Amino acid sequence: MLLLGSCGRVTKKHAIVPDARRSKTSAPAEVRTPQVLVGATFVTGVASRAQLPPPGPPEIAFAGRSNAGKSSAINALANRTRLAFASRTPGRTQQINLFALRSGGLVADLPGYGYAAVAREIKKTWQDFLWDYVTTRSTLIGLVLVSDARHGLKELDLTLLEHFVPSGRPVLVLATKSDKLNHSEQSRAAARIRACIAAKFPAQAGAVTVLPFSATRRMGVGHADAVLAEWLGIA
Ligand code: GDP
Repeated sequence: MLLLGSCGRVTKKHAIVPDARRSKTSAPAEVRTPQVLVGATFVTGVASRAQLPPPGPPEIAFAGRSNAGKSSAINALANRTRLAFASRTPGRTQQINLFALRSGGLVADLPGYGYAAVAREIKKTWQDFLWDYVTTRSTLIGLVLVSDARHGLKELDLTLLEHFVPSGRPVLVLATKSDKLNHSEQSRAAARIRACIAAKFPAQAGAVTVLPFSATRRMGVGHADAVLAEWLGIA
């Protein structure tokens, strides 16, 4: 069992951390127009393991702490301008929302975790469902973890990764709200997340891609889309 703790927070004081092993996924130029999530349509909301549809098409899950910018990232990737995928109340979207992609795959929008105002028992039930989902869902081919670039990976992010990364399936970490950092801070924030993952999961670090991302500035959108397309075999 790994000892978990948050890591990857960027501060002005931190020395530049050399990039850990980079992902083998080579992201093409940023100019790429997003495709994978464009035109996605809602299929169903799932509140328990029993409600999950039987394993079918390849699934990509989006996860992250409440308020990390997951809905905004999904909407940016779907080329939507208004919130269309999730509730506006943090911590209240307590179901997995499944969307069908035009390619035939599925996107699972997982409920945000770590929202302080949700009762402890409810939080635990939900977190257990999430950990169970990422561990056991056989058609889950990749995980997108949305993390505020300024805060790095928190304990619950690391717990989620601990349940998924050992399977060897790929992870894309979107270091969101990178527009709030200057250029060198953006690089440092991403490098620290890479270093954190390399330290905690040395054998699987090559399966993890970390991208500076901003929904508002549309930074990293093309790269992220290319990574998802590669996972789905539609690159
Ligand atoms: P979620 O709870 O993870 O789905 O987070 P949301 O997408 O709802 O975003 C939470 C807050 O962060 C909202 O106020 C968003 O406007 C803001 N936000 C999300 N993405 C960005 C971003 O890329 N840049 C900035 N500056 N703010 C963002």
